[in-house]
Amino acid sequence: MDGGGGEKTQKSGILLLHNALIVTMDPTSRVLRDGALVVDGDRIRALGPSPDLLREFSPLADDVLDLHGRFLLPGFVNTHVHTSQQLGRGIADDVDLMTWLHERIWPYESHMTEEDSYLSTLLCGIELIRSGVTCFAEAGGQHVAGMARAVELLGLRACLVQSIMDSGEGLPANWSVHSTDSCIQSQKELFKKHHNTADGRIRIWFGLRQIMNATDRLLLETRDVAQELNTGIHMHVAEIPYENQLVTSTRGVDHGTATYLEKIGLLRSNLLAAHSVWLNDAEIGFFSNAGVKVSHCPASAMRMLGFAPIKEMLDAGVCVSIGTDGAPSNNRMSMVDEMYLASLINKGREAYIRGTTNPTAVPAETVLKMATVSGAKSVLWDNEIGSLEVGKKADMVIVNPFSWSMVPLHDLISSLVYCMRTENIDSVMCNGQWIMKDQKILNVNEQEVISMAMQASSDLLNRAGITLPKRMNFV
Ligand SMILES: [Zn+2]
Repeated sequence: MDGGGGEKTQKSGILLLHNALIVTMDPTSRVLRDGALVVDGDRIRALGPSPDLLREFSPLADDVLDLHGRFLLPGFVNTHVHTSQQLGRGIADDVDLMTWLHERIWPYESHMTEEDSYLSTLLCGIELIRSGVTCFAEAGGQHVAGMARAVELLGLRACLVQSIMDSGEGLPANWSVHSTDSCIQSQKELFKKHHNTADGRIRIWFGLRQIMNATDRLLLETRDVAQELNTGIHMHVAEIPYENQLVTSTRGVDHGTATYLEKIGLLRSNLLAAHSVWLNDAEIGFFSNAGVKVSHCPASAMRMLGFAPIKEMLDAGVCVSIGTDGAPSNNRMSMVDEMYLASLINKGREAYIRGTTNPTAVPAETVLKMATVSGAKSVLWDNEIGSLEVGKKADMVIVNPFSWSMVPLHDLISSLVYCMRTENIDSVMCNGQWIMKDQKILNVNEQEVISMAMQASSDLLNRAGITLPKRMNFV
């Protein structure tokens, strides 16, 4: 699909944004009431009070934008999303986990083409951008080339991984042939081809789908090759009690996946452990000591997995960020919704484990941090993104809070977590380029993507032989 203009036609000059409430998320949590920010090329050149920056930069700026008191935030980082599953939204609602996996998701994913993956990522990317995401960590799909093409076009920033499995029961026929060597080799090739492409917006990570689909050799070689290439590893960790039970009974450890990964030296600061729901206190300590990053996905946790000890992890100093997971596990790929849920699930969990509620648990500023700076740390990119600071990349979001959903704005920071809706996200910039402006997606034709994705999705379900049981009484 051709681009709809946007990126190619935007100037890379100096842009001055002023009269904004700037939530910097910098190390001192500065919030500028009447702030201005200067974008020069792909980076933030200056940040400060509007009168000062207007005086200094108005003569130099190619464009001056009055934000009329709207909010300016760093772009959100979604640290666990299956972009390839967007065409599978609604194929596995209200079913048990085994049906979800064996009868819906595996047939769906194993019948995808690269073109399906491209369209799925475009559709998912539109939803991500609309919810203020500028960077995401792919959780693992089959066709990285398709994802990369979509990310490049959309203008997003991403850490892409292939879905990697070299063992496991009941895998689709075309998946069970992957040897450990071919798993490592194909990722090395993807790294060579796509890492640091799209003006540096795309990075390639190594994937481990989950421990039940990984031999020891795959785990160890992934650990070593990722270290050698100085990149990250994205893995689903301790998702369900059964996983821990299996690891305990087959791999000779006393608790579960996290304990085993500690034993084999895979817990390192470049590991992004998605979900990490079933961790005990000792394992939280391992994560903290090793600098492991956790992606907390509250919606899919509530629906399929359980209550992760997020408060305990945060108290222990673990870097916890937020992910949406995939469309068949959550249905909504909105980081705005996920931030709201991240706060609620962890307040609710306090009643579940302690018998009494704790509305002070995981407050709004903590959730904002999880969605921005901690997200950037989780994807090993915090030297360039995650906060609005001079010298960092211009990845940011304009929020229009003056709507029925957010006024009267007594508590500006809490309003971003408890009141903000996806519809309050007004404009999104990534790498110094607008990718959504005044709620219009710029680099792709949104309607065209929607109709192509709907067609591709129904073709894919036909090929995969997925049929859904009827609900209610259609006449
Ligand atoms: Zn996942």
